[in-house]
Amino acid sequence: MPDVPNSPAKRLIVGGVLVVGVSVAASMLFTHLSFVEFGDLKYEGAMWAAAIVPLLVAPTAYGWVALLSWRLHKANAALDTLARRDALTGLHNRRAFVEAARARLAAGARVLLLIADIDHFKRINDSMGHAAGDLALVHAAGVLAKAAPAGSIVARIGGEEFALLVPAATDPAALVERIAAELAHMPVLAAPGLKRMTCSFGVAAAQSGEGLDSLLSRADAALYAAKDGGRDRMALAS
Ligand code: GH3
Ligand code: MG
Ligand code: MG
Repeated sequence: MPDVPNSPAKRLIVGGVLVVGVSVAASMLFTHLSFVEFGDLKYEGAMWAAAIVPLLVAPTAYGWVALLSWRLHKANAALDTLARRDALTGLHNRRAFVEAARARLAAGARVLLLIADIDHFKRINDSMGHAAGDLALVHAAGVLAKAAPAGSIVARIGGEEFALLVPAATDPAALVERIAAELAHMPVLAAPGLKRMTCSFGVAAAQSGEGLDSLLSRADAALYAAKDGGRDRMALAS
């Protein structure tokens, strides 16, 4: 017999053996009783006896299987939620962002994409440690989520890189200014040579029929331009 790898598998096998065993035993018991105890059993009585076995065994077995399926369904739903969340910040992760953004674009929504990348984040990590860096990321995520207008999708799409898909009516310069002001209130002491936390932003407006890959790459190019231009600023994609 092959190895039974883990306890859930063992439980399933033991459960299956028990269900079959109990139903065979109950059926034999009723057949025995109908011959030995009720030798004069009539057709109607025998039919009742035949019905009682599945009536007792089937609901129990089905209930057990239903309970396992329901638990499995709940566990799958929890896993699905976990697979779409960034564990550190609680924002959507890249996978969830891509799915949601693709759906918006496919529906023809008019949107702007902002990619925000924390400036000189490595310095925060290097001078104050990884835990302080994590705290700074959580702070940045909170600022972005709070500043984003209603109906936006906000996600952490890389280490210190975030994406915001916002309605096209949003004024990106005003949004970036609000974010920059809030980001400055860092919950940890600033690193040497880094007075406050800043971000650079690449912004691209989705063109009619444009796919997510193209939109992301245009916003990414704009982000590089913002970095090249000296950081702590926003650049618009061409
Ligand atoms: P730039 O202004 O050009 O963006 O410089 P930068 O230092 O922000 O960028 P760089 O890509 O050089 O460094 C990013 C750093 O982010 C390196 C990596 O160790 C750190 N990082 C990535 N993910 C995490 C994380 O989850 N927690 C922490 N604490 N650090 C992270
Ligand atoms: Mg960076
Ligand atoms: Mg980066």
